[in-house]
Amino acid sequence: MTIAYLNGSWQPIEKTSVPVLDKGFMFGDGVYEVIPVYQAKPFAVEKHLARLSKSLGAMRIAAPMSEEDWIQLFIAGISKARVKEAIIYVQITRGVVDFRSHVYGNSDPTVLITVAPRSSATAKPEFSLVVKEDFRWSRGYIKTISLAANTLVRNEAIAEGYDDAILIRNGIVTEASSSNVFIVKDGEIATPLANNYLLHGVTRSLVLDLSKQEGIPIKERDIYLEELSEADEVWITATTIEIQPVHRINDQIVGNGKDGPLFKKIYRSFRELVCQSV
Ligand code: PMP
Repeated sequence: MTIAYLNGSWQPIEKTSVPVLDKGFMFGDGVYEVIPVYQAKPFAVEKHLARLSKSLGAMRIAAPMSEEDWIQLFIAGISKARVKEAIIYVQITRGVVDFRSHVYGNSDPTVLITVAPRSSATAKPEFSLVVKEDFRWSRGYIKTISLAANTLVRNEAIAEGYDDAILIRNGIVTEASSSNVFIVKDGEIATPLANNYLLHGVTRSLVLDLSKQEGIPIKERDIYLEELSEADEVWITATTIEIQPVHRINDQIVGNGKDGPLFKKIYRSFRELVCQSV
């Protein structure tokens, strides 16, 4: 069962609605966060709440509650939804105003939490990306609910026969439409720098930690478009998909077209980390 918490009360999601004058609906003015639940426990919750706080601050929306309060609500939601494997979405908008104005008033933020069951993430056996220009704004580190550009490029990619788009800004890889990118070349892993142009993924930071623990060389650096065609492995990472190997970019096979050895190693470590935390 998927349940929702809206501004103080839990209810079935079908019965949950927000007024049309909510700034989230009017302007896409809000932020969100996605927290995975394994064995009824929120995973990497501190990292997700730290990013939520950063997103709220960047959007000048006052934090509606403390970290402890969020965690209490997540635990209550997991128990009410009676789920073990789940995904929690937190969405906070600037709130409801009495007229449509670009100027911030003193509205109370709207707080929505949904808890939905999910099946475990399994990597797709044939996954393809198409290269597209990253035309989004330069505050990609904010996890804003304004996802029109991201959904546009994802759907263009699908219409062209690919699973997703990999985005390039001035010749440099930023991220995919809803995930971070890693490449492997000659035994070394690289991922784009966590700058303004991309979301600082929680899964990305876990993969960085795991690689260092495993003693595998890893660098955060600029990755040039040309490096994609020379990479031995390419992966994308996100909370909902964990780590997904990429087998084709445009019309070119990545490496030997199979899941690479470093993907397998890091994915095993990632699963161990999940098991240890529950
Ligand atoms: N970049 C974008 C644009 C995303 O939407 C996401 C997923 N929310 C990510 C990267 C990956 O972030 P995380 O690992 O925290 O889910």
